[in-house]
Amino acid sequence: MEKVNLQLIEQHPELGTVWDELDKVGVIAPELADQPEGLKLTLLPFQREGLAWMRKQENTQFKGGILADEMGMGKTIQMISLLLAEPGKPNLIVAPTVAIVQWRNEIQEHAPSLKVLIFHGSNRTESMSELMKQDVVLTTYSIIEAGYRKQKYGVRKKDVTVKEDSLLHRINWHRIVLDEAHNIKERSCNTARSAFALQSDRKWSLSGTPMQNRVGELYSLIRFMQADPFGYYYCKKCPCKSLHWKYSNMKDCDDCGHRPMDHSCWWNNEILKPIQHFGSQGSGEKAFTKLRKLLDRIMLRRTKVERADDLGLPPRKMTVSRYLFNEEEEDLYESLFSDTKRKFSTYVEQGTVLNNYANIFELLTKMRQMVDHPDLVLKKVKPGQIGLPETLVCSICQEEAEDPIVSKCHHLFCREDADQYITSSSIEAPECPVCHIPLSIDLEQPTYVKDETEADEEIRHKTFARTSIVNRINMDTWRSSTKIEALVEHLYKLQREDRSTKSICFSQFVTFLDLIKWRLEKAGFKCVKLDGHMTPFQRDASIKKFSNDPTVTVFLISLKAGGVALNLTAASRVFICDPWWNPAAELQAMDRIHRIGQYRPIVITRLIIENSIESRILQLQEKKQAMVDSTIGKDPGALARLTPEDLRFLFVN
Ligand SMILES: [Zn+2]
Ligand SMILES: [Zn+2]
Ligand SMILES: [Zn+2]
Ligand SMILES: [Zn+2]
Repeated sequence: MEKVNLQLIEQHPELGTVWDELDKVGVIAPELADQPEGLKLTLLPFQREGLAWMRKQENTQFKGGILADEMGMGKTIQMISLLLAEPGKPNLIVAPTVAIVQWRNEIQEHAPSLKVLIFHGSNRTESMSELMKQDVVLTTYSIIEAGYRKQKYGVRKKDVTVKEDSLLHRINWHRIVLDEAHNIKERSCNTARSAFALQSDRKWSLSGTPMQNRVGELYSLIRFMQADPFGYYYCKKCPCKSLHWKYSNMKDCDDCGHRPMDHSCWWNNEILKPIQHFGSQGSGEKAFTKLRKLLDRIMLRRTKVERADDLGLPPRKMTVSRYLFNEEEEDLYESLFSDTKRKFSTYVEQGTVLNNYANIFELLTKMRQMVDHPDLVLKKVKPGQIGLPETLVCSICQEEAEDPIVSKCHHLFCREDADQYITSSSIEAPECPVCHIPLSIDLEQPTYVKDETEADEEIRHKTFARTSIVNRINMDTWRSSTKIEALVEHLYKLQREDRSTKSICFSQFVTFLDLIKWRLEKAGFKCVKLDGHMTPFQRDASIKKFSNDPTVTVFLISLKAGGVALNLTAASRVFICDPWWNPAAELQAMDRIHRIGQYRPIVITRLIIENSIESRILQLQEKKQAMVDSTIGKDPGALARLTPEDLRFLFVN
């Protein structure tokens, strides 16, 4: 690395003084901006600080930055305040599909003077001047990705490939904002490339995840900002410098003719590699200091704890409700559990626990489903089942796939399941659960569509409209489960205490939510549901119904629906129907109601069946948390990972 650096500095002398120059720039001091004219909501003090910081930041060499406040602190409203400053110029906001309607609603409510348009869906405008007339254009990552792909690689139409211009990429925007910016964390995936190709002077990223732990992912945001020199590639043999890695003939650089290996990404060399090789020691420590220096000048992050006085959030309480199986459930569960134990101890004897991770993960999923309701295991949907020609079944949960993605080996998974399967594995590339070769899958790829020419989201959602389990099985003879009845009891009790209390129920399994919904409606509760098969407008309609209709008191949400941006402060109760060993996912769920706008005390209840995989998962969570708390140099991945010892803890008694 040292050698590479010397070579680089010889060709590019300015690289020798980057960090000294940065010292001279200094850090922006906190200051309060005035409440913006035209904003119908009073900003909190730390939000006015954020606004002042963003305005100044746009006048630095970086012309933008990263607003990384913790989730629920109003990054959206701070950004809207910034947009209000100069109306009449088009800004582009790119957000996950779940969030764009919410952005529009917040703009219309709090800044009604801004003209806003959603660029999404099959009947979206094709007129550039229409877009230029707006103050804000809202779109999704899949739209910019598809637009970029069609422009760059073309679309096949009746045996010819036609390249189509991408409207969003032709406009020179006043400002671009990436919401939930970790969507572009893979620098080489098409989503990231499509964001890099957008044109604008000012560029912002919004993200609630603490970036300093994810040095590799941070590069994409730096590259998006076109921060000089941090986002650039440099040639070691000549003054060639570029934001792009371009080798049209696969052999040498389009600009200077030198080979790919003569070029070096400055970020990798200066920050990423030293940290990967040396951690927080020696060269790694130096790289961390440099990183800190840079982040101080481009990123602002505040946490709820730091700004608790400003926020005035009500207290929140977490409880666990424990239940025992009834006899029939216990029999079914025990037979599955002893089967699982037997298989697991065979793997242990053969020393093949890690090789059989796919089988083990499947057994674990089955046991978790069995605890919720035996039908989730015994009444599974089959691929292409009669009457359901479009059924695409996930190879992990064996349910109809939610937000489906496809591996290199052409197997299909729910995005969330694939993510959890990989992050929980303690080996680098766990095998594909179907074909057993190492699983290679792009977790950021757009949702899978059967017909590539119809890569439009509206159509995707139509293709994947799913059938509830209650339409497949005979509900006349159906029996509820301990878990479902426990939830019903809780909700009855709440209703007796205060009819206006609203609750959210989270589960990993959509089929379970189907059963819950059927049972709750029988019991007289009005519910709405949100899962990964709904269009943004269907989601918005559900959220509005829940927030505004006093008779709707229960919201059923699939943890796989990707609802990061949901703002559901109408609810003050949360039920987590099935626990997960990684508490981070659960914390995220809670953050959706413990945020600005929440005035009632919050209670979060985890429903747990004793003497089952669930009570063990809970114990494992506590054990892991204690371990992580005591470790210096915390490893954020450790909580999500399942080591062979963890598996033994879950399966052996
Ligand atoms: Zn060169
Ligand atoms: Zn070159
Ligand atoms: Zn799945
Ligand atoms: Zn496979």
